[in-house]
Amino acid sequence: MNHLGKITGMRICDVRFPTSLSLDGSDAMNPDPDYSAAYVILSTDRGDGVEGHGLTFTIGRGTEIVVAAVEALRPLVVGQDLAAFTRTPGAFWKHLTGDSQLRWIGPEKGVIHLATAAVVNALWDLWAKLESKPLWKLLSDLSPAQIVELVDWRYLTDALTPEEALAMLERLAPTKAAREAEMLQHGYPAYTTSAGWLGYPDEKIRRLCREALADGFTHFKIKVGSDLQDDQRRAAIVREEIGSGNALMIDANQRWDVPQAIEWTTALAPHRPLWIEEPTSPDDVLGHAAIARALEPLGIGVATGEHCQNRVIFKQLLQARSIAYCQIDSCRLGGVNEVVAVLLLAAKFGIPVCPHAGGVGLCEYVQHESIFDYIAVSGSLEGRITEFVDHLHEHFLDPCIVRGGRYLTPTAPGTSITMKPDSLADHTFPDGRTWRELRARVQ
Ligand SMILES: [Mg+2]
Repeated sequence: MNHLGKITGMRICDVRFPTSLSLDGSDAMNPDPDYSAAYVILSTDRGDGVEGHGLTFTIGRGTEIVVAAVEALRPLVVGQDLAAFTRTPGAFWKHLTGDSQLRWIGPEKGVIHLATAAVVNALWDLWAKLESKPLWKLLSDLSPAQIVELVDWRYLTDALTPEEALAMLERLAPTKAAREAEMLQHGYPAYTTSAGWLGYPDEKIRRLCREALADGFTHFKIKVGSDLQDDQRRAAIVREEIGSGNALMIDANQRWDVPQAIEWTTALAPHRPLWIEEPTSPDDVLGHAAIARALEPLGIGVATGEHCQNRVIFKQLLQARSIAYCQIDSCRLGGVNEVVAVLLLAAKFGIPVCPHAGGVGLCEYVQHESIFDYIAVSGSLEGRITEFVDHLHEHFLDPCIVRGGRYLTPTAPGTSITMKPDSLADHTFPDGRTWRELRARVQ
């Protein structure tokens, strides 16, 4: 393992896609996102040209701040032996998040944590490529003890100890092969958000619902929270199109105070939503608990997580029984290591993990994490479904593929996140071809 080589370079790109022009991705709080990423490329002295690619997702302005934060992490990464990461990924994660001065601008939250995610995800991509395995397979092949090591257990042991996690993983280890074979054959269940953005005309919603049904989807999510009459109309349209046997989920993107969340969701209850997502502030653990208690009799679960800053907030959400669905985000949490921490916590509390995806690259990431969750951590598909949005996949060399409403299990080495060189160059902000052409059109 010592001759894996050294990390000798880190390139950071500010990549932005002008998605706000088409209302794709519009919700009650983010009416005009330009899906973007701080994109990291790690190179080594191995001489084989293998690079580790990783990103953290952003929605336009501010990406330059995340890029600067990644830059601040450079001295912690460049010059390190790759074996220092692969031997003990948990210790390396603590090294990255534990810098005594950088910690002040977190700790483990906000811009610096988004930056951590990009770097950590690039390290896992590099390792997976060197092992010639897709990320889910690399993770699934780790021993229970190795999986326990990759988690930073600080702040978690009142809810879950490493010993308990080890026992959970060991219980499932003998049956991993059967679940892996099942995943390779059938893939992982997905739901679609593509029909439900705010601002789409009714006919477009109907057409997108019909197309998604024909594609095999059974779960459909729409955005709510801007205007109750509009929500009622769109929820009715979607329910009419998908029928009573399929699932409708609603997503408020943090729009409400707690009482308003209860009132608004109750008003939408006749459309029988399975869950209300992000009803209020992502930091409000007890607010989510109050909403959950109020909606329980209506059979509506609370889902949140895409803005949960770290494993500690997830721990509290689970301890307070605030959520019925745990929505990890591959890039808001500190990359693969912290995602695994939350998968283990959720398994302990018996709460299904239904990852947040969409944007750019998130679908590519979460397919690996969900498949690993099923094979090694939860061992169950019950109540589990992973978000899919059909945007921007064409920019990746090994994009996720969804067929029949399921993510096909990826087989190429790495994390599926390597962007095509032309896409990267054209969308680099502000001087890539796409942005130069847009400016020329406006002038
Ligand atoms: Mg959401």
